[in-house]
Amino acid sequence: MLVLFLDGFGYHQYLKATSEGFAPFIAGLPPSEPALSVYRPVTNAGFAAMITGTTPEENGVYSREHKDLKAPSIFAAAAERGKKAALIEGHIKILNTETEPQLNIDENNDGSTDDEIFAAAQKSLQENYDLLLVHFHSIDDAGHSYGDISPKTLGQIKIVDGYVRELVEDWSGKVIIVADHGMHAEGDAGGHGQFRYEDLIVPYITAEGGQSR
Ligand SMILES: [Zn+2]
Ligand SMILES: [Zn+2]
Repeated sequence: MLVLFLDGFGYHQYLKATSEGFAPFIAGLPPSEPALSVYRPVTNAGFAAMITGTTPEENGVYSREHKDLKAPSIFAAAAERGKKAALIEGHIKILNTETEPQLNIDENNDGSTDDEIFAAAQKSLQENYDLLLVHFHSIDDAGHSYGDISPKTLGQIKIVDGYVRELVEDWSGKVIIVADHGMHAEGDAGGHGQFRYEDLIVPYITAEGGQSR
């Protein structure tokens, strides 16, 4: 299973990007169901729900202050079954997961770790993982800086769509593309964490990797 976790990619952004040519690869995958994140719709809580299959009440992660999981995650389940798993992250460890994340710094100083995360994920595709979870951050970063559906954010979605294409095409097995929360406009910028549609509803796409047959 390859899980592509696109931080801050709300369902309304998915609909706009796929209908207006900013996510040409994702647009060609089976269409997404609207999925419900958790409250508060922030990274730690959405991520914890995603990897434990439980609500904040059960896993103890409600906000950015919480890092410890009170419920086992899919990484514990993978380890129990003798499966090889990895979590590929940016430069900050977000949750204390049973599998230590592989962190990536912005080596080329281009303002994003997503290119380094993409390179690390590509390398991992050659290493026979059973479960690979790759967390891209740049859609969230652009959303905060420029707004949820600004041209710059849509442009960043297009860059990430290119990363998604390469990884899905080279993966042998199931793929899930999902987000932790969405993003709403705040003037010329964006934010999330509120009880509202743009923040709480996210895409959930399941597909087959290109090398599956
Ligand atoms: Zn996030
Ligand atoms: Zn954010």
